[in-house]
Amino acid sequence: MTDFLAIAAPGIAGLNPYVPGKPISELERELGISGAVKLASNENPLGAGANAIAAARMAVDEMQYYPDGGGFSLKQALSAHLGVDADGITLGNGSNDVLDLVARTFLSPGYEAIFSQHAFAVYPISTQAVGATSRVAAADSGYGHDLDAMAALINQRTRVIFIANPNNPTGTWLNKAQLEGFLAKVPENVIVVVDEAYFEYVGQETYPDATAWLGSYENLIVTRTFSKAYGLAGLRIGYGVSSPKIAELLNRVRQPFNVNAVAMAAAEAALTDCDHLARSVEVNNAGLAQLASGLGGLDLRFIPSVGNFITVLLPQPVAAVDRALLHKGCICRPVDNYGLENGLRISVGLAEQNQRVVDTLGEVLKA
Ligand SMILES: *Cc1c(COP(=O)(O)O)cnc(C)c1O
Repeated sequence: MTDFLAIAAPGIAGLNPYVPGKPISELERELGISGAVKLASNENPLGAGANAIAAARMAVDEMQYYPDGGGFSLKQALSAHLGVDADGITLGNGSNDVLDLVARTFLSPGYEAIFSQHAFAVYPISTQAVGATSRVAAADSGYGHDLDAMAALINQRTRVIFIANPNNPTGTWLNKAQLEGFLAKVPENVIVVVDEAYFEYVGQETYPDATAWLGSYENLIVTRTFSKAYGLAGLRIGYGVSSPKIAELLNRVRQPFNVNAVAMAAAEAALTDCDHLARSVEVNNAGLAQLASGLGGLDLRFIPSVGNFITVLLPQPVAAVDRALLHKGCICRPVDNYGLENGLRISVGLAEQNQRVVDTLGEVLKA
């Protein structure tokens, strides 16, 4: 019997596979039920916009061709949309791909990445997959990033700092003054990744657009995605924006055709669909308020969120509650594996979906 773990790269032993939300089809097949609702993966409950769907359909007709590996057309569109240099854009197969490119470009055994307790699960995966070391800073009392604690972990071995703003699964966020104060403190030879996967949803006045600082900090990489507010999670497309010097390095390790043609076409069209984005944000704001009020009505503690999800801190073991919810056709996401004791993350859905999950949670907790 070969112990393959013994021959795997050193970081692999310390990793657990990422746990995704259960697909609706899988739950219905397993339990023989129908009409299940999935509020587990922070997907856009409105779906993709009509422009994106039409563009994707057109692109399917040309799928015998390799995609444009340089992503010229989408990069031009993003450059105009964001007001950034097209040479500083790196396209990814989801923004997770960009996070992974950063790790493969800047991390290796003996070096360290810093991120917060309760931060997004991909940071340790990408860090440890390349044999580098994760340094986890304790969160603040509200489960958010404690930037002072993160800064205190910087040393000669630090190569990358991952900051999720807002963070998933906590929904916590950092304001302009906090984040810029931190950037100003980080040595220039340490890469700072500001992960803005939920950027489009956040309406808070002091919430920063980190791309505005690209001119001041050459070590900054901002990542965003089409998976969340744009509703294209299934196509896998996201991007990083940085100085062209960094983008050129990321491009050296990038697989030549990491982003598919259908995704690029849909993403470019999605950028032009301001109405769909505005509607998505509106539905999300209403849903966040609805969930907060419903959960409050059940006397449940939750972490205030500016994302498209809310994490509830249940007064009892989340595994049993999750199982009971699944049997009643509600898929949410236990997040106790993020160090959030009995945490259950509920993605914002349509009004009736939100109501169903809150009502079902109430029933399950009473039983
Ligand atoms: C969802 C998410 C991402 C990226 O998702 P992709 O689908 O790979 O673009 C990145 N960061 C955070 C914090 C997320 O929640």
